Amino acid sequence: ALVVRHRMQSSGKWARAMAILKDLEDKCGTPIGKLRQIADAMTVEMHAGLASEGGSKLKMLISFVDNLPTGDEKGLFYALDLGGSNFRVLRVLLGGKEGHVVKQEFKEVSIPQHLMVGSSHELFNFIAAALAKFVATEGEGLHVPPGRQRELGFTFSFPVRQTSISSGNLIKWTKGFSIEDAVGEDVVGELTKAMERIGLDMRVSALVNDTIGTLAGGRYHNQDVVAAVILGTGTNAAYVERAHAIPKWQGLLPKSGEMVINMEWGNFRSSHLPLTEYDHALDEESKNPEEQIFEKMISGMYLGEVVRRVLYRMAEEASFFGDAVPPKLKIPYILRTPDMSAMHHDMSSDLKVVGNKLKDILEISNTSLKMRKVIVEICDIVATRGARLSAAGIVGILKKLGRDTVRDGEKQKTVIALDGGLFEHYKKFSSCMESTLKELLGEEVAENIVIELSNDGSGIGAALLAASHSQYLEEP
Ligand code: BGC
Ligand code: MG
Repeated sequence: ALVVRHRMQSSGKWARAMAILKDLEDKCGTPIGKLRQIADAMTVEMHAGLASEGGSKLKMLISFVDNLPTGDEKGLFYALDLGGSNFRVLRVLLGGKEGHVVKQEFKEVSIPQHLMVGSSHELFNFIAAALAKFVATEGEGLHVPPGRQRELGFTFSFPVRQTSISSGNLIKWTKGFSIEDAVGEDVVGELTKAMERIGLDMRVSALVNDTIGTLAGGRYHNQDVVAAVILGTGTNAAYVERAHAIPKWQGLLPKSGEMVINMEWGNFRSSHLPLTEYDHALDEESKNPEEQIFEKMISGMYLGEVVRRVLYRMAEEASFFGDAVPPKLKIPYILRTPDMSAMHHDMSSDLKVVGNKLKDILEISNTSLKMRKVIVEICDIVATRGARLSAAGIVGILKKLGRDTVRDGEKQKTVIALDGGLFEHYKKFSSCMESTLKELLGEEVAENIVIELSNDGSGIGAALLAASHSQYLEEP
């Protein structure tokens, strides 16, 4: 009798775990009708954000980039790419009309955790020092002509209210950065002061978001690029807007008639978003509560953490991993998205990778195959939701551009440059995103929409924009 009762108890626990799984699946559902509502809401918010400052959760920031690279850019330029967990310094030799990128060198430096939450002074000192060290390695033929100042394109992947192409104030931090005293400051001013402190003579010629850099880098290679999307630690999009479709723009209409807009779509929010209790708790306990809700459902910083929260609830309410909750499972962000991806892609018949990840990261051993399958299922639900939401976001942009339908049999290509580790490495995520795009647009339209992986194009893009905004450029 004892054995029977025990078995009944544990099957009761399994049933509870299945109920939690089923509930997750229901609440994360993204049927096509819902995605259409989200795409529509995205288009509506784009209009609202362009109409007036503060008109929408979508900031629709004016980038001051009214001309994208043409291929004529020439000379040696530096770039700095700060945004995720790493930052990179680059040196790019641009060859002008025929040459394109003649030479490119870069160095990647990881940012110590404490600098992401310290003071502005410390962060920019660290960056300037790394840059100075890199400049010191300038080799044969790779320096600016005598008497000229070095020029830099600064990719800064956070929301910035630009005051010109080469200045702008930080609106807020995202992605785990939280440096109080930098908020509201001109980030170019901060960087320039740090460079002066260590005697590095360099001028910031362009300050750009990573989406803008990616768009510029993408356009340099392919004239059909009209938008850029980042799916990495964070997520965001930028696109080329007609200047007269930006009512809030107070300045002169640019000659090109165009202006690149940094949407900051990570902050998008809509009642149609399939939010769960896990998302609400994640948000509340984050460094930026109530902010970046779309980002928290989609991007690499958060996907693994959503999965951890589901597993935690299963452990606590359904004793999924035995009587006690595994202590490691209580640690926020311990399950990283690359590990989630590895589990999700586990093709072995006994789900060995899942077993090993659970053991190595969460110190959970002796999981049954049945349990491992549940974990893969959770990864699938969370990744699928994120991927399908990003596809809906892209359709929102295509609608705004009027490129979500085929007009008069016109077969114009629309290319979207895509960058970010999530898209590049999480294959089930990227393939789900692309198939959802097809599902939303229909075969005929989808044929003309091309997603182009632009591997770290934002650094080159920033160098290109530094070149086209160089102080040494002769007026045409
Ligand atoms: C930032 C954006 C950035 C995106 C991708 C978001 O958290 O707000 O400015 O483009 O991450 O790096
Ligand atoms: Mg990046």
